[in-house]
Amino acid sequence: MHNLRDYTTNKHRKVDDYPYGGGAGMVMQAEPVFRACQAVQGSIKGKKARVIYTTPQGRVFDQMLAEELSREEDLIFLCGHYEGIDERVLEEVVTDYVSIGDYVLTGGELPAMVMIDAISRMAPGVLGNEDSGESESFSNYLLEYPQYTRPEVWRGKKVPEILLSGDHQKVEQWRLEQSMEITKRARPELYEKWADENQEYFIRKAKREERARKRELKREQKKNSLQYPL
Ligand code: SAH
Repeated sequence: MHNLRDYTTNKHRKVDDYPYGGGAGMVMQAEPVFRACQAVQGSIKGKKARVIYTTPQGRVFDQMLAEELSREEDLIFLCGHYEGIDERVLEEVVTDYVSIGDYVLTGGELPAMVMIDAISRMAPGVLGNEDSGESESFSNYLLEYPQYTRPEVWRGKKVPEILLSGDHQKVEQWRLEQSMEITKRARPELYEKWADENQEYFIRKAKREERARKRELKREQKKNSLQYPL
């Protein structure tokens, strides 16, 4: 963490001033932000780090961006406060404008912490189980299936039978179907994206159902021919 006040030159270590053109609130000045950025970039050994300005005007942060940023060696988060930061320094130092959602907070500190949390759990070694970050909500547009742990019966509510079956394939199929249901209900626009990218899933499913129908038909015919021999 770097305190922008440490990069001021005035006696009162002031970092903000009134907005040109008038209006409510204060604006953070360009020079302390610029000097802080230079100092931090200078302390980084490898290539220059991406500088992420937390702003409601940025691209909305999501799992895909978290994954992308988790592959970076270093990242700098620039947190605004008051009405924001002088546009001129943003043009000079910022590489990414990122928002955490369509609402306005008082400062960029919480957005930075939210992003740092989501990004760092994608970095190898942060989560205990290497692949537990991969099959999660949003990683393939689908939300995650429901989870259960012991006891098997809790206040009369039983864990879905299939999860106790030990049939790995059936469990996978059940989880996928649950994920699809939940996503369709809670986030229809995500479900559409998933369906677009997974059309072969529906084709395979239709073929499977067709085969099952044919098998059933044959069984019926056989049964009938045994019951009523010609
Ligand atoms: N006047 C600005 C909002 C300033 S809010 C506007 O209307 O766009 C003060 C600071 O909080 C911003 O500079 C930004 O760094 C941070 N902030 C507020 N809401 C945010 C959000 N949804 N995502 C990321 N940062 C946010």
